[in-house]
Amino acid sequence: MTERQEFEATDIAASTDPKFVAPERKVFMRTYGCQMNVYDSNRMTDVLGPQGYTATENLEDADLVILNTCHIREKAAEKVYSELGRIRKVKEARALDGKDMMIGVAGCVAQAEGEEISRRAPIVDMVFGPQSYHRLPKILAEAATGKTVIETEFDIDAKFEHLSAQAAQPERKRAPAAFLTVQEGCDKFCTFCVVPYTRGAEVSRSVEQIVTEAGQMAAGGVREITLLGQNVNGWHGKAPDGSTWGLGRLVRRLSEIEGLDRLRYTTSHPRDMDDELIDAHRDLKTLMPYLHLPVQSGSDKILAAMNRKHTRDEYFRLIDRIRDASPDIALSCDFIVGFPGETDQDFQDTMDLIRRVEFGSAFSFKYSQRPGTPGATMTDQVPEDVKSARLAELQALVANQQTAFNASRMGMTCDVLFERKGRNTGQIVGKSPWLQPVPVDGPDSLIGTIQPVEITGIGSNSLFGRLVAGHHASVSSTDAIKEAVFDA
Ligand code: SF4
Repeated sequence: MTERQEFEATDIAASTDPKFVAPERKVFMRTYGCQMNVYDSNRMTDVLGPQGYTATENLEDADLVILNTCHIREKAAEKVYSELGRIRKVKEARALDGKDMMIGVAGCVAQAEGEEISRRAPIVDMVFGPQSYHRLPKILAEAATGKTVIETEFDIDAKFEHLSAQAAQPERKRAPAAFLTVQEGCDKFCTFCVVPYTRGAEVSRSVEQIVTEAGQMAAGGVREITLLGQNVNGWHGKAPDGSTWGLGRLVRRLSEIEGLDRLRYTTSHPRDMDDELIDAHRDLKTLMPYLHLPVQSGSDKILAAMNRKHTRDEYFRLIDRIRDASPDIALSCDFIVGFPGETDQDFQDTMDLIRRVEFGSAFSFKYSQRPGTPGATMTDQVPEDVKSARLAELQALVANQQTAFNASRMGMTCDVLFERKGRNTGQIVGKSPWLQPVPVDGPDSLIGTIQPVEITGIGSNSLFGRLVAGHHASVSSTDAIKEAVFDA
C-alpha cells in the first residue's frame, strides 16, 4: 500500500469509526497577506487536527504543505510559483527517503488562477479557494488517489456553517488575542481591488454562529477578539428572532460574554460606519479606541475614479462624529498614491486630508495594476518615479503623526493585554488599547492578563512602559487621554 492509498484508507476509517485514531502527520502552512488569511490558516489547522495533522515550522518534515496565498500584492502569483519551485526540491529530496509530500495552494491566488496553477506547477495536488477549507479532508482524500483537485466554488454559507460546528466542539487552549471572521467578500468594487473577484459577494455569518464561536474562544482563554471581514462594518447578520443586526448591535451582544474584555474589528468602509456602531464606541468599554478606516485618497476626483462612493467632506464629517463619540480613538488608514489620473494637486489634496485628520498610524502603497480590475486598463497611469516620490512624502508625514500620537501617551497609565514573551529575558509584550505593542519587564505568569502599565517611552511603532502595581488603569488613562490626545 502506498502512502497515498494508506491516507485514503485512514480517511475512510476516520469517517466511519468514531474511535479511530489517525496516524500522526505534519502540516507546514505558509500564510501570506491579511489577518483573514491568518484566521483561515488557523481554521484549516483545526480541520486537519482530527486527520492526525499537527503543525510544523519545518518544511522538510512536512507530509502536507499548504500555501495560503494573497492576491493583493503585485506579482502575487509569480511569487507563489517561485515558492513552489523551492518546495519541489524538498519534495524530491523526501522522495529519495521514501517519504511523500502533498502540496496544496489555497487562498485568493488559488481562486484567481485555478487550473492554471496545476498546469504551470504539476507538483501541486490541490488548488482550493477560500470558501473550500471546511472540505479539506475530502479534498485530501481525493488528491490521495493521485488526482489533482481544483475547488474554486463560492459556497461560503457551507463554510460558515462548518466553522460553527467546529466552534461547538470542546474548546482548546488559545492565545489571549484571536481573530474571528464574521463576514467575507465585498460588493463595493473599488476599481483598484481584486477582493470582489477573489472572495465573491458579501456574506455575513449569523449572530448565533458568531456569539457561539466567541463564547468558545473566551472559554478557551481568549481575552481580545478582532472581528474580521473584507468589509466588516457592512456585516448584517440574522438574529435568532429573524431580524437583521448591524455590527454595532453585534459588538454590544459580544461585550456581554464573560471573560471577553476587548473587541476590535477590521477592515471598515466609510460608507458603512452607521450611528449604532459609532455609539458603541462611545458606550462600550470593551470596544477598543482604535479604528482602521481607509480613505485611500483625499481627492474627490480620484475617490470617484476609485469608485469609493464617498467624498472627502463626507469622510471629514464622519471623523468628527467618531471623535465626538470617542475622543481618544486612534485612527488608522490606507492610502494609495499614484492611482491613474492622480495629478500633483490630487496628491496634495490627500496630504491636506492627512494633516486635517491626524492619524495614529497608516498603511500606504504605490498603485499597481491588478489584472481583471478596471484600474488596470485605465490609460493615464502615473510614472513609477512620481509614485515613489509621492509615497515618500506621504510616509514622512504619517510617521510624524504616528510619533506625535505615541508621544501624547507619555506618562499615562493604560491597560495592556499581555500576549507573549518578549525578545529579552524577563520581558513580556502586550498591546495597548490603541494597538501599539508594549514591552515591559515582567513575569511570564502575566501573559493572558490585563495589567496597568505606565508609559515611560515611545518607539516608532511601540510604547515602552513599566507595570504599575495595584493601580486600576482604565479610569485614569481615559480622562488623561481626553486632555492630551491630538494636542501634540
Ligand atoms: S471596499 Fe475594500 S475590499 Fe471592497 S472593493 Fe473596496 S478596497 Fe476592496
